[in-house]
Amino acid sequence: MEFKFSDREELLRKTVRDYAEKEIPPYMEAMEETGEFPVELLKGMGQMGILGVITAPEYGGAGMGALARIVVLEELGRVCPAIPMAIQVHHMCTYALSTWGNEEQKKKYLPPLCKGETMGVVAVTEPSGGSDVGGMQTTAKLDGDKYILNGRKCFITNSHHADTWVVIARTGEGGKGLSAFIVENDFPGAKAGRKENKVGLRGANTGELAFNNCEVPKENLLGNEGDGMTTAIQDIVQCGRPGMAAVALGILNGVLEQAVKFAGERTLYGKSISKLQAIQWHIADIYADLEISRLLTYRVGWMIDQKINCAAESALAKQFACEAAARSARKAIEIHGSYGIMHEYAVQRLLRDAVVTIPAGGTAEIAKLVMFRQALSMFGL
Ligand SMILES: Cc1cc2nc3c(=O)[nH]c(=O)nc-3n(C[C@H](O)[C@H](O)[C@H](O)COP(=O)(O)OP(=O)(O)OC[C@H]3O[C@@H](n4cnc5c(N)ncnc54)[C@H](O)[C@@H]3O)c2cc1C
Repeated sequence: MEFKFSDREELLRKTVRDYAEKEIPPYMEAMEETGEFPVELLKGMGQMGILGVITAPEYGGAGMGALARIVVLEELGRVCPAIPMAIQVHHMCTYALSTWGNEEQKKKYLPPLCKGETMGVVAVTEPSGGSDVGGMQTTAKLDGDKYILNGRKCFITNSHHADTWVVIARTGEGGKGLSAFIVENDFPGAKAGRKENKVGLRGANTGELAFNNCEVPKENLLGNEGDGMTTAIQDIVQCGRPGMAAVALGILNGVLEQAVKFAGERTLYGKSISKLQAIQWHIADIYADLEISRLLTYRVGWMIDQKINCAAESALAKQFACEAAARSARKAIEIHGSYGIMHEYAVQRLLRDAVVTIPAGGTAEIAKLVMFRQALSMFGL
């Protein structure tokens, strides 16, 4: 087993780091205030290959893999975690189209998504409960050459900025009665609804998508009727959970940097607080959380690239990294004393951002359920 990135991945990391440090900070204050994603950044990210990192070159992508995607998201998140939150859901949309789309759908929708001319969403969650995917109520009824969609999706990332929506809706009974559709935001009856006002990851817009007799051409069915549950679950396993773990890695990088910097600068008793053993232990714990989360998350990226089944590893990386980010951000706040809860210091934002990663992409309890099943299977149960 080799723990080494390829030269191409190392170059990608450096290029994205340089880009993120230069281009993102001017937008961060407004993102916090308005809760809006800076769509002006999309074209530049498109040119750099960030948006199409996992899309094949024939559809305008960079043709790199899941591990490269994690590197991209981590580096963006080091500077501002809300940016990779939005981009990781955009990738979920490109992943769904690449995996289940027919040639015509891929040629139509993927190039503009990769260039940053359009933005994508994947809409699964409904007010009736995100964990219970099989219980969703949005319906899609075939009527001549159109499907008519009715219902409401909630907590959808990029809701108010996205043009291309991959929507899961009910075409029949039970878990096998779900299907995926490509909906354009200006199809009749499609509308972005309420905007959420989140405590963290504020610059990644979250809100509702409403379907009121929404007319979707029959050819916009994505995959086969009845495959919607597989589309939703596979997209979450292969893209959503690793993506959220990578957002958490970005947060952990930021947390460690802020903790080390503050501990080095703050003087008590005539010396830096980094000389106090209690502070050193806090920093060591944050470092351990970052490194363990990295190993788990990079492993999932590698497994996806090797086409190895990784449902449990994906759930583990997501659940561990997101909780580690929240735990470590709290420790960094303690290192800061009361400065840590002041708006001028980044650690309070990083804690708010980390808390928001925990339910996004599936809750910790659902991730543990996946891990529990894997643990039983190790003993043939
Ligand atoms: C920032 C953010 C972005 C998001 N982006 C998207 C998006 O782009 N697209 C999308 O479709 N969704 C998105 N979501 C929704 C997210 O996936 C759901 O919120 C999540 O799946 C949980 O669903 P819920 O909020 O309805 O909680 P519920 O499903 O109602 O869960 C409530 C509680 O019950 C627990 N629970 C549920 N079932 C079980 C069980 N079987 N065993 C044990 N405990 C259980 C849960 O863990 C939780 O603690 C986003 C959420 C956030 C916060």
